[in-house]
Amino acid sequence: MDTEKVDIIIIGGGLSGIYAASLLAPTRSSVVLLEARSRVGGRILCPEHQGFFTDLGPSWYWPMMNPRINALIQVLNLKGYPQFETGHGRFQAKDGHAETIAGYPMQPPAWRLDGGMISLVEGLRARIPEGVIRLNHPVCEVERRDDGVRVTVGHLDQEPRCRLKASRVILALPPRLAARSILFTPDLPYDLAQAMLRASTWMAGHAKFFALYDRADWRRFGLSGQGFSLCGPLGEIHDASNETEQPYGLTGFLGIPALRRNDRDAIIRAMLGQLSFMFGPAAGEPLKLYYQDWAREEFTATEYDMRSAHNHPEFLPPSGKTSFWDGAVYFAGTETADDLGGYLEGALSSAERAASAVIASQDVLRATMG
Ligand SMILES: Cc1cc2nc3c(=O)[nH]c(=O)nc-3n(C[C@H](O)[C@H](O)[C@H](O)COP(=O)(O)OP(=O)(O)OC[C@H]3O[C@@H](n4cnc5c(N)ncnc54)[C@H](O)[C@@H]3O)c2cc1C
Repeated sequence: MDTEKVDIIIIGGGLSGIYAASLLAPTRSSVVLLEARSRVGGRILCPEHQGFFTDLGPSWYWPMMNPRINALIQVLNLKGYPQFETGHGRFQAKDGHAETIAGYPMQPPAWRLDGGMISLVEGLRARIPEGVIRLNHPVCEVERRDDGVRVTVGHLDQEPRCRLKASRVILALPPRLAARSILFTPDLPYDLAQAMLRASTWMAGHAKFFALYDRADWRRFGLSGQGFSLCGPLGEIHDASNETEQPYGLTGFLGIPALRRNDRDAIIRAMLGQLSFMFGPAAGEPLKLYYQDWAREEFTATEYDMRSAHNHPEFLPPSGKTSFWDGAVYFAGTETADDLGGYLEGALSSAERAASAVIASQDVLRATMG
């Protein structure tokens, strides 16, 4: 089998990998991004219904603490709007009874993005030359060789689909997932492998719903759409639409642990019953309902994430080094960020760190080799 040779391989086409590719593509280096799924975005997933993009992954950014996201929104000419919070909230106790409570505004204020979070990814993708991004390319092996790093695409128990070689590789996927699903040859040092496995993948254990309506009835009752429940199945609910435009949405997170979310149909029936109970009968009859269980996503979660849904990621590689094999492989991906790890902001900052380290090392390589 022929091995394709490039300068830089990026593994993972979530926000971090796509951003790294957009930073590296204009340089003199040849870049390929390998993405396992048939789509880009990773944990950003926004199915479209009648021109409305429903965020089944991240939906908020915080303008007061997300400078990179703010800048990217400006560069891509996108528009945000504040989380709708006008009105009262609803609270459901363990015994199931519900009451109306004072609204609970988010601090710092959270904003949503017109066009959904996928517009960040699509905006960046439009700036990356054709041929760089390869979908349906799951990486199963990363090998250190004398003349670079060889990356194999396919499944370990099958014939390889293709092979590529590069002097630099960026791992733009959760470190825990990389340690669990990619064979590194030679073995990674024990401390590094442990640090990767311990870094919890943010929100990987969660499931999210999104319901769309042609009217926001809850607003007519003086409710903000915000709800908290101690009995579930939904644990946390929010209005997911802007002030005036249709369709209107309610969105939120399941309160049931991943290991117990086995019967999808029963969960959806119970969710609709709960919405109707908390926000009025029309809330139980959406135009469209989406349900996404991230813990069951092969290219996001591992079996460890079924248990540790609430741990913020903490990636503590030996000596704080975010590269290995003498600077041939670099970590990106939000879990490896120095600050705001787990969030979209961390996906961007970790990509910047990896891209600038790779550019610097490529310059050194070129200077050394003339
Ligand atoms: C339900 C939910 C709600 C969230 N809410 C918010 C929020 O409101 N605000 C916020 O800031 N953040 C939020 N987050 C977190 C946010 O989604 C992440 O910070 C961000 O999307 C991570 O981007 P990433 O590129 O680092 O990782 P990912 O998006 O996980 O990208 C990794 C990519 O690698 C690919 N991949 C995996 N294995 C392989 C392989 N073997 N070969 C090739 N490719 C592979 C995956 O398919 C994926 O595309 C939320 C996440 C979830 C799931």
